[in-house]
Amino acid sequence: MKTSLRSRLTLTYAMLALLLVGVISFCINFFFKIQFNDYVIAQQKQYNQDVVNLVDKQYDASTKSWNVNAVENIGVNALSQGVILKVKDLSGNIVWDATVHDNGLCTQMLSQMAENTLSHNSNLKGGYVQASYPLTSNFKTVGEAVIGYYGPYYYNSNDVSFLNKINTTLIVVGFVSLGMALLLGALMSRRISRPISKAVLAASEISRGNFKQRIEERSSTREIGQLTASVNDLADSLEKQQKLRKTMAADVSHELRTPLASLQSSLEAMIDGIWEPNNERLESCHEEILRINRLVGDLEKLERAEAENAVTELSEFDITELARHIIHNFESDFYKKGVRLNLVGDDVTIVADRDKISQVMVNLISNALKYTPEDGHVELSIKDTEDSVELAVTDSGNGIPPEDLPNIFERFYRADKSRNRLTGGSGLGLTITKAIVEAHKGNIRVASKLNKGTVFTVCLPKNGGK
Ligand code: ADP
Repeated sequence: MKTSLRSRLTLTYAMLALLLVGVISFCINFFFKIQFNDYVIAQQKQYNQDVVNLVDKQYDASTKSWNVNAVENIGVNALSQGVILKVKDLSGNIVWDATVHDNGLCTQMLSQMAENTLSHNSNLKGGYVQASYPLTSNFKTVGEAVIGYYGPYYYNSNDVSFLNKINTTLIVVGFVSLGMALLLGALMSRRISRPISKAVLAASEISRGNFKQRIEERSSTREIGQLTASVNDLADSLEKQQKLRKTMAADVSHELRTPLASLQSSLEAMIDGIWEPNNERLESCHEEILRINRLVGDLEKLERAEAENAVTELSEFDITELARHIIHNFESDFYKKGVRLNLVGDDVTIVADRDKISQVMVNLISNALKYTPEDGHVELSIKDTEDSVELAVTDSGNGIPPEDLPNIFERFYRADKSRNRLTGGSGLGLTITKAIVEAHKGNIRVASKLNKGTVFTVCLPKNGGK
């Protein structure tokens, strides 16, 4: 079974917290113990010295005797601290000896200290050790104090309770940090996994065809932001494509219905003998078929121009040279209609799909010819503007009504329906032109004045839109 991102993240946080607490506890235990043991050893030395100093004071130099009762008090007190005191005089005779005083208590004390110490240092190899200190009075040695204890160091009950408190604190800190890590982990993983789950949900909705699906939630995490933006972009483009497909199908059937219906009724009339199939009628039918053919051809061109990798045949060529060639081909058509055509501009080299750019110029010049009456004038100009080339087709024709200007690049849009029927346009020329220009990462704009003329300006990057 696959684990969810959320539980995996929470688990990671908890494990990290446990690891951290473990490492910190180990370090505290290890390094702190070393310091603490040094401290205990120093304390022991100091205590031994204090006991010796006290015993020193119990010697009466005038009578050369020891105050045995006072020595006993010191010894009993020391015994309660785990120290076994033995005091000898100068001749080596015992003045007071804790083992003689209460041997049982001495053994019990030693084993108690051993137990205390081993409970916190299980590897310690300790045992009974003793140290001798000279006893002096007026700078003269008057005897010897032998101090025995569990060595190399031992813990008394205060030390043990101190160490126990440290350990309890560590355990509490460990549990508190673990709880906090789990809580924080759960919160953080929720913050991370929620938008991802939403993206997954949205993506599966989109895959089911619900292209209206969008992710509203914003995330401060860059990658998650990019993910949700990509899913939304995907939904956008799929929705656009779906809309395009739907309208395309509707537009195409609408465009085909009229010529097909007229063709059908003409042919039926001829078959039924209502009309005589004379030359004129057959020619009219032929014209309708040509119209349908042109439309299908234009649709193919549009499909190719709008395809995702429309610009595949990139090459470097002189665009002015290409323009000269196209103008040459148009010369007789312009001459027949009595419209002047000229080209201005310097030679400019660009990287682009030559055939498609040629299609752009042909579409714009043929439109200019179509909508410019006799004695009119059409000019194609090419301008080199550093990173791009500006190609403008200016005519002195009919112009486009301002209300039609925003729509002329749309599929099957014709500004003047009745006149366009005569000119035979399919309303796809400018749509194809725009699709080609945009596939080259360029742009096309139009400016027009009714009965004065129109200017189409195409801006193309010189590097093929890379
Ligand atoms: P069509 O095949 O009908 O010419 P286009 O897409 O090329 O289709 O053009 C769309 C419409 O824009 C045309 O029907 C026409 O009304 C208008 N148009 C295009 N170019 C010009 C122009 N140079 N002068 C006036 N009108 C134009």
